[in-house]
Amino acid sequence: MSKYDFDVIVVGGGPSGSSAARAAAEQGMKTLLIEEHSQIGMPEHCCGMLGGTKTGYVENIVLTEMDKRALVAPVKAEHVYAPNGKMLNISTVGWGALTVERCIFDFELSRLAAKAGAEMMIHTRVSSLIHDEKGNIKGVKTESENIPEITSKIVIGCDGLGATTRGIAKWEGLNTPPDVMRVGILFHLSGVTDIEPGVLDFHMGCFGNQRGDITLIPRYDDYCVCDIPSLKSYETIKAGNWPLSKKLKNSKVLRMQGWSHPLYLRPWLPDNVVKNGLMLAGDGALGIGGIDFAIHCGRLAGKVASEAIKKDDFTADGLSSYNGLLKDLRIQRTGYRVRFDMLATYCRGLSDAELQKKFDELGPKIIGVEY
Ligand SMILES: Cc1cc2nc3c(=O)[nH]c(=O)nc-3n(C[C@H](O)[C@H](O)[C@H](O)COP(=O)(O)OP(=O)(O)OC[C@H]3O[C@@H](n4cnc5c(N)ncnc54)[C@H](O)[C@@H]3O)c2cc1C
Repeated sequence: MSKYDFDVIVVGGGPSGSSAARAAAEQGMKTLLIEEHSQIGMPEHCCGMLGGTKTGYVENIVLTEMDKRALVAPVKAEHVYAPNGKMLNISTVGWGALTVERCIFDFELSRLAAKAGAEMMIHTRVSSLIHDEKGNIKGVKTESENIPEITSKIVIGCDGLGATTRGIAKWEGLNTPPDVMRVGILFHLSGVTDIEPGVLDFHMGCFGNQRGDITLIPRYDDYCVCDIPSLKSYETIKAGNWPLSKKLKNSKVLRMQGWSHPLYLRPWLPDNVVKNGLMLAGDGALGIGGIDFAIHCGRLAGKVASEAIKKDDFTADGLSSYNGLLKDLRIQRTGYRVRFDMLATYCRGLSDAELQKKFDELGPKIIGVEY
């Protein structure tokens, strides 16, 4: 095997990529992880609410293997606000959710993958896949002048949400959703009042003429990350009279990170995410699945890829068991989040008055969800 020939190439250094690379390396595969940015974990494009850690593996990584600076607080409750201030207090005790510093968290996952034996190539963008004359995937082309081509038995596409509109899933025609995009800005704010680490705020309704549904994730006493559609809506909210306005009135912007992703309902379950020599994992396979799902999904992909290589069958048929396993995983991992998303999606179609009425009806039913 030459220096630039691997068993497994993983594209993308998010939670799914590092978990896939670690699992493959642990199985003895010669593994390479390629990440386009010069630092894994940056830029940070996530609020950092890590769901359902009571699953052994994730809890173990966070609580035992990782630098504890990645951990902010256990999540105790979600407070869901209607525009008139009515609040549903959803207890999340027992769910095992944590808030994390994504930039440290992702960096740590990559460190653990490297420790398991994976090679790392950062600051290198994968520009396309290499196909042989029969169309089988045989590696990747990169934008690096020094190393423009790297070959492998299996490529695992962990290139995130962008994959479905401009990445591997799109290039290979694997179950891409409609190209309707949602955009927003992740604000890091100080000077926020009435927040508590471990208690998440979800503010529903219209803010000015902009539909909101804004998540606010406290990190320290007066500091939080907050997902707001635009700078204009942030200013409108600050000057307004909604429950969120009171919290943000004296806030100061410390950092802004733009993001965009395709707009579709979760969970989106594609029938097939494998081809000859290719598997997709994490958001690159399924759309927004969340951090914990990306970890489990990446691990699963790394393990299935390693088994296929050991059996010397990395055709779509040889990898097809992954489709079923992924669906099972998706169903197991959704639980509370999907019920919550269904509520959010349902409420998105309502006017503020209808929303408030619905909160009165729904309130007692959704308080105390079981996990
Ligand atoms: C605003 C926002 C807030 C969110 N908040 C939460 C939250 O609170 N909790 C939660 O669970 N989830 C949240 N999510 C979703 C969560 O961020 C994702 O589900 C998770 O990051 C998916 O992990 P991943 O490894 O599949 O993809 P990503 O984390 O997106 O990682 C993909 C990686 O691939 C790299 N890459 C892409 N293309 C290439 C290429 N061609 N070559 C090389 N590298 C490439 C990217 O640079 C990136 O590092 C949020 C998402 C957004 C947009």
